[in-house]
Amino acid sequence: MTSLDTAPSSTVAAPPHSLTPHSLLSSPPFVPIAGRMVKAAVSGERLRYRDMDEGEFWRKIPSYKDIDKETFLDYRWQGKHSITRIDKLLEAIAGVAPPEFIADAGQGFLRSPMSVRVSPYLLSLIDWNDPYRDPLRRQFIPLHSQLLPDHPELTLDSLHEQEDAPVPGLTHRYPDKALFLALDTCPVYCRFCTRSYAVGLDTDLVDKVHLNADSARWEQIFAYIATRPELEDIVLSGGDVYNLPARQIRLLGERLLNLPNIRRLRFATKGPAVMPQKLLTDHEWTKALCEVVALGRKLRKDVVLHTHFNHPREVTWITQEALGRLTEQGVFIRNQSVLQRGVNDDVATMKLLVKRLGYVNVHPYYVYVHDLVKGVEDLRTTLQVAIDLEKAVRGVTAGFNSPTFVVDTLGGGGKRDAHSYDFYDRDSGIAVYSSPNVDLEKQFFFFDPIAGLDDKFQARWADPVERERMKAKASVMARALRGHR
Ligand SMILES: *Cc1c(COP(=O)(O)O)cnc(C)c1O
Ligand code: SF4
Repeated sequence: MTSLDTAPSSTVAAPPHSLTPHSLLSSPPFVPIAGRMVKAAVSGERLRYRDMDEGEFWRKIPSYKDIDKETFLDYRWQGKHSITRIDKLLEAIAGVAPPEFIADAGQGFLRSPMSVRVSPYLLSLIDWNDPYRDPLRRQFIPLHSQLLPDHPELTLDSLHEQEDAPVPGLTHRYPDKALFLALDTCPVYCRFCTRSYAVGLDTDLVDKVHLNADSARWEQIFAYIATRPELEDIVLSGGDVYNLPARQIRLLGERLLNLPNIRRLRFATKGPAVMPQKLLTDHEWTKALCEVVALGRKLRKDVVLHTHFNHPREVTWITQEALGRLTEQGVFIRNQSVLQRGVNDDVATMKLLVKRLGYVNVHPYYVYVHDLVKGVEDLRTTLQVAIDLEKAVRGVTAGFNSPTFVVDTLGGGGKRDAHSYDFYDRDSGIAVYSSPNVDLEKQFFFFDPIAGLDDKFQARWADPVERERMKAKASVMARALRGHR
């Protein structure tokens, strides 16, 4: 009998992942005060989330040791010195990273479907004493020695963003909201980008779809949105809106806010996490964003910034200062993280991230279970990790600062609460969801990484016939269990 035959019992949760007691953010002890037991005041370790990287931390990298604060805070300097080639990386970290690491990264770059772009700021946040395990290194610099084979169910556009696009660069999947991909470049390139089908330059592995920041393409999108009265909410993303000039931020904001059906806009950017300097020194850009937010307020519409921090070390004194400027001007900021193995998949790190974001006025909105993306199987976690983290994080701070853990299901089912599956078999790593607002009947799948499964199940995945059989069985179980959970 396979475990799928006994599926209802195998859906009982596996032992919780990494729910180890941790002094940092567990609840404080009780102490007697005036004859009553009250919570002890906390200090030191427990408030560590407030201690951000401070001072001129970049100077520990030999090639930045003479860079003064003014230069380091200049976004143009950050852009000009961002690293896009392995030989430049080698130059920048010569003397701080071991030679075998450099060779490993060189091989990793060759096999990456993403182009590479890392800012000096990011580079100086990496702990070069331990680059193999460093959570920032993992996100941006691929290592050949850590790569795993892609999941067999992976396709380049696994979320069907292009299939759901009535005009190029506008994905209209949900009834009242749409995703507007305004451009295809970013201030840095992340290894794990879900949009590697479009974002960045062509690489040896991928010829991309190009979505230029081009007004003729945008006009088609504005026209489509104007003819869809049900559309109220536009996510402006890419690529990354950080790379749009100030006048295009204004143009997008004004054109969309002036459509009567549009009530909500979000500008999505990883910028504050990878190059907060821009908010401090690109005054034109910051002003344009604040003006669009102010226009929204005047029209009684909602304009917010969505950003993307994954690890507490990505929040420094520079971030705090940069985001503070936005908060001062009434810009509301939300965060979307991606759950990644070895980056933020343990309780202590996730709690620290959530608390620190809240402290700098960023509202943790989502944590995404890592999508199936080419070349980054090593970064994916199981669904179970997300479900356990959600449980551990809820209650650590205000409810409005507690992220929802979601999975973007394969084949265009859209985002679902991670724990809301109809069926999840931990042995085969197959989860099945329904998504009634997308399609009343259809089933949408998600797959755990194969490398973590038992040998027996890895062997079944290697066999195409067995693979189809496991999926078919999961589908039957899901139909039977739907409505009973
Ligand atoms: C994520 C997403 C949205 C926005 O969804 P929210 O849950 O409101 O954040 C809209 N359209 C598409 C295609 C998306 O993937
Ligand atoms: S910033 Fe966003 S869109 Fe750009 S590479 Fe990273 S994940 Fe992809």
